[in-house]
Amino acid sequence: MTSPSTSGSRRSLVDSSVVLLMVFLPPLVWWMWWCMVDRDGALAWPSLEMLHRVPWPTPLSVALYLGWFVLQAGLELLVPGTWCHGAPLADGSRLRYKLNGWRCFWLTWAVVALLVGTGLVSATVLYDQFAPLYVTMNLFAFGYSVFLYVHGRRHPDEGTSKTTGGFWHDYVMGTALNPRSGSFDHKLFCEARPGLIFWVAMALSFGAKQYALHGQLSAPMIAVCLFQFWYVADYYWHEEAILSTWDIRHENFGWMLCWGDLVWVPCCYALQALYLIKHPNPVSTWMLVPIALLQLLGYIVFRGSNLQKHRFRKDPEALIWGKKPESIATSRGTLLLVSGFWGMARHMNYLGDLMMGLAWCLVCGFDRVLPYFYVTYFTILLVHRAYRDNLHCAVKYGADWDRYCARVRWRIVPGLY
Ligand code: NDP
Repeated sequence: MTSPSTSGSRRSLVDSSVVLLMVFLPPLVWWMWWCMVDRDGALAWPSLEMLHRVPWPTPLSVALYLGWFVLQAGLELLVPGTWCHGAPLADGSRLRYKLNGWRCFWLTWAVVALLVGTGLVSATVLYDQFAPLYVTMNLFAFGYSVFLYVHGRRHPDEGTSKTTGGFWHDYVMGTALNPRSGSFDHKLFCEARPGLIFWVAMALSFGAKQYALHGQLSAPMIAVCLFQFWYVADYYWHEEAILSTWDIRHENFGWMLCWGDLVWVPCCYALQALYLIKHPNPVSTWMLVPIALLQLLGYIVFRGSNLQKHRFRKDPEALIWGKKPESIATSRGTLLLVSGFWGMARHMNYLGDLMMGLAWCLVCGFDRVLPYFYVTYFTILLVHRAYRDNLHCAVKYGADWDRYCARVRWRIVPGLY
């Protein structure tokens, strides 16, 4: 049995490690921006000068960010969509979600085109205002997370609760799985809207900056903007698939996910386009051909594997690559797919995602390592996630999972890992 003092010290260790994330991650993004903008994309030791560059939010940065957030929330609430059920919760019930992302995505670009076309907002504004905007976005995400903490305390989850009672842990990791205000689902909204579309807006604004500085858009900049636009557009086209992802099903919604969705994704995922502003042509145009093929192949593996599982769950008889799918029946009454991509490795969907991420980085050539931050971080994230998912499935499916793992040996990369 664990003594109160042991569990107390374990909790303070857990609290300290999650607080470290909160203290470490926001300066990390700022440091990368500073290296890109002030150090020509080279790695540089953090300095006082870097800290002195942290500005206060400006009226424009606040107006931009709040305007963006309100626009996204308004579209989410007002635009019609199809209603779907999420995965079963611990008590067997299912939440209903309105899916209108595809329409909201294109309506957002219509609004952006109107604002930029009429000259009300400059196309380069996200680059020019990045520093105050970054501070504004952080303040917003930290504040929103306070709201989520209080909200989760007032409306705790029925059945399983993942809270520890330690303030810092619960603030960072969240106090509720699906915090909602009426039918407005805070987690799905933040996961799928303001940050994700803002990432593409950042990349496009960085493209506009390159154009403003050099009088033309380079082929690598066009490629990376296209690849990322495609990735996000595709996400909305297959929006229903998000309801079965790990974050939506298993993670509480606290600072970690909220800050990740609202700040990390838009500010970190657009690093390649940021780099290309001052280094327009780090690779020759012919090099873009194999890079585009890598993106295409990655997309086929990523989308193909996610769709195979999704369709299999809806109809276990639906053909995969022209054949009736094979599966392992579990004692829980569900089936584990072992055909198609799911017979090659347990997470081919992660492999496809990583291939696309690598393609975005390769567009930046080999002079600097910082543009490769994305694929490095993403590899760590997905390897760790595959590990957690394996533990989760081992508990959930027991011996059936062992049989599945014996049949599908590789975790992510067939023949390698
Ligand atoms: P998965 O979509 O791979 O879902 C894993 C779950 O699927 C398991 O927990 C299990 O759930 C079920 N499952 C596992 N194996 C099988 C099988 N053989 N047959 C049937 N069901 C199976 O994981 P994620 O939610 O992590 O990822 C979804 C996508 O999102 C991936 O493509 C990933 O690359 C992407 N992603 C992108 C991120 C980004 O920042 N761009 C971040 C994270 C993910 P069950 O309990 O239902 O059996």
